[in-house]
Amino acid sequence: MHIPLVDLKSQYQSIKPKIDDAIQSVINETAFIRGKFVHEFETEFAKKYGVKHCIGVANGTDAIFITLKMLGIGAGDEVITTASSWISTSETISLTGAKPVFVDIEKDYYTIDPTKIEDKITPQTKAILPVHLYGQPADMTSIKKMCDQYDLYLVEDCAQAHFAEFQGKRVGTFGDAGTFSFYPGKNLGAYGDAGAVTTNDDALAEKIRRYANHGTLHKHDHEFEGVNSRLDGLQAAVLLVKLNYIDEWTQKRFKNAQIYSHLLKEIDGISPPKIRSHASHVFHLYVIQAEERDKLAAHLKANGIETGIHYPVALPFLKAYGYLGHKPSDFPVAYESQQKIISLPMYPELNEKMIEFIATMINQYYGED
Ligand SMILES: *Cc1c(COP(=O)(O)O)cnc(C)c1O
Repeated sequence: MHIPLVDLKSQYQSIKPKIDDAIQSVINETAFIRGKFVHEFETEFAKKYGVKHCIGVANGTDAIFITLKMLGIGAGDEVITTASSWISTSETISLTGAKPVFVDIEKDYYTIDPTKIEDKITPQTKAILPVHLYGQPADMTSIKKMCDQYDLYLVEDCAQAHFAEFQGKRVGTFGDAGTFSFYPGKNLGAYGDAGAVTTNDDALAEKIRRYANHGTLHKHDHEFEGVNSRLDGLQAAVLLVKLNYIDEWTQKRFKNAQIYSHLLKEIDGISPPKIRSHASHVFHLYVIQAEERDKLAAHLKANGIETGIHYPVALPFLKAYGYLGHKPSDFPVAYESQQKIISLPMYPELNEKMIEFIATMINQYYGED
C-alpha cells in the first residue's frame, strides 16, 4: 500500500465535473483579474466565516505582510510571534522593516506560550502574531488579554486553521485581522497560489484592498503606492466550488485524527496530539512525537507511507535568523520538539483501512504486536 502525506488527486476526482466547469466559466467570461468569481468568493467566504470583509490576495504570505504594513508596522517596531511556524510568519515581519521577536511554544499544543509573552514586550512592540499551528487554535483568551493590556495589534495567522474555533469563536476573528493561505495543500486549497485577509475593520479592509492593487480601488486612482497581490480569477472559481465541501472535509479530518489517536495511544515511544480544551482542532496536520523519529520515518517509508516534519528547524534556529544569536536554551520547548515531531498522512480522503495500516506499521517499529 502506498499512502502519501497529502493526496490532492483523489480530492479532485471526487469533484472533477464541478471544478472543470468552474475553470471553463472563468475562461468563457475572461474573468481573470478582479472579475466576478473573485468578488463572489470574497463575499461567500466572508459570509460563511462570519466576518464583514474578506480581501483576496495572491498568497498567504502576502496576506500577513500587507496586513502588518497597513496597520502601520515598520522600521523600529517589534512584532511578537511564535518560535514554531513556517517562515512566512516571521519573514513578513522583517519585510515591513520591523523585527521579529520569537516566543517559545506550549509543550502540548505547539502554539505560542502566552505565559512567556510578557517578558518580550518592549516600548517598540506593536503587535502579536499568533499562529494556529497544525489546525490547533492558540490560547486566544490569554493572547487577547495581553494585546488589550499593552495596546497591541492582534493579527492571527490562520493559514493552517480555516474554520477552527476557540470557545465557539472562529480563529481570525479575535483581533484586528486573520490571514489565510489557500496554497493547494491547505485545508481549503486552490490550484495554485492564493490567500486572503479577513477583518471587521472597514478602514483596514479598504487600505488592504488598495495596497494589494497598486494603491487603488479603481483604475488610475492611486492614493498611495502598493503592490500587485490579487487573488487570481481561476483560483477564486476553484475555491468557490471547494467552499461547499470544507465543512464535510474538516469533519473527515477530525474523524481521521480520532481513529489515529485511538490506535496510537497504547504504543510506547510515541505521543499523539492533544487538543486544547474549548478548542476545535481542524487537523491540517496530524503531528505526533516519536522516539527515534528519523528511524521511524525510514521504517514507514520502506512500507510505502510518506511522512513529513513540520518543521525540522524552529524559526529562531534557521540560518536566516542567525543574526539574532539565539541558543537552544532560549526556546527549549521548540528545540526539543523539533527533534521528535513527525507528521503522519492526513487528508479527508484518507480512510480507516489506511490509518489501521499506518498504526500497524508504527506498532511494528516499536516492537509490539
Ligand atoms: C502556508 C503558510 C503560510 C503562507 O502561505 P502561502 O500561501 O504559501 O504564502 C503562512 N503561514 C503558515 C503558518 C503557513 O502554513
